Amino acid sequence: MINVLFAAPAHQWDAYHAPLSRAFASVGIGVNLSRSHAAAAVDYLIYAPGGPVTDFTPFTRARAVLSLWAGVEKIVTNPSLHLPLARMVDPGLAQGMVEYVTGHVLRHHLGMDADIIGHSSGNWVQRRVPLAAERPVTVLGLGELGRACARMLAQIGFPVTGWSQSAKTIPGLHCLSGPVGLISALRGAQIIVSLLPLTPDTTDILNAETLALPARGAAIINPGRGALIDDAALLAALDSGQIGHATLDVFRTEPLPRDDPFWAHPRITVTPHIAAETRPDTASQVIADNIRRAEAGEPMLYLVDRSKGY
Ligand code: NAP
Repeated sequence: MINVLFAAPAHQWDAYHAPLSRAFASVGIGVNLSRSHAAAAVDYLIYAPGGPVTDFTPFTRARAVLSLWAGVEKIVTNPSLHLPLARMVDPGLAQGMVEYVTGHVLRHHLGMDADIIGHSSGNWVQRRVPLAAERPVTVLGLGELGRACARMLAQIGFPVTGWSQSAKTIPGLHCLSGPVGLISALRGAQIIVSLLPLTPDTTDILNAETLALPARGAAIINPGRGALIDDAALLAALDSGQIGHATLDVFRTEPLPRDDPFWAHPRITVTPHIAAETRPDTASQVIADNIRRAEAGEPMLYLVDRSKGY
């Protein structure tokens, strides 16, 4: 039997216990899944921030940590983590992100707020609604989530530029990379979607300098991580009209404090870190398959490159 420790916050046990058990059975591995294995007896840990494990030192025989989260900035910097770390790549999570991003891009593209908020004015004022083809969109990050969102937006008809660390060729997308690529990717963009991981290189990547590059009045949608944006620079860019609206799902401090100026700002939409959650059924299958691979001596999937931080 393989001992798997469920080291996520206690409230997630009910959602994951049955799907994980089914998934382990479906890939044909015998697993003893528990929240209370002795550390020295654990073979694999299923981990999420806020759970019971902060020190990985006692897990002497463990072979890997499998994160329930796609973003691993909170664990990758833990000095006690001596084990391989697999991040979450879940088709259910990716689909949720595609839906969130597409919905919010279309809100800004179609100017829906004018109809939803202004519908009771009695004024029949027709406006020209541009086609997607007239609205350049930039997606920062072309990983599992950025790529899926960029593809969907391109399918709808937006001219989509994507930006990543390494150079890429993705049919239907204009792909750029590196620091010079960032400037070209942002210049003239009308909607920017930020789906980068948080690392030392990406912290504050949207700052006073880079926020000056998009088209005046551009919208920003950030379901990546809060610290990708310099908050003070964003507020200044919103107040000057350089940025027309920011839809923010993630924040430096979560939950976003009640007195944070973002809540009341007329050009900021706050969503409470709900863009895309890991879905127990699909994610359990990914975890079970990864443990099966490790047990069979095959390389595990989605391993985090500790030197890059994601
Ligand atoms: P991923 O597959 O690791 O992709 C990350 C992308 O960012 C890659 O394209 C990578 O470039 C690029 N990148 C990283 N550092 C860069 C840099 N310094 N310069 C340029 N590009 C850089 O990650 P993912 O699964 O798509 O997830 C992205 C992030 O979404 C997560 O880290 C997490 O923060 C966030 N997230 C949010 C929610 C939510 O509900 N709000 C849910 C899930 C995830 P390469 O392709 O060249 O490596």
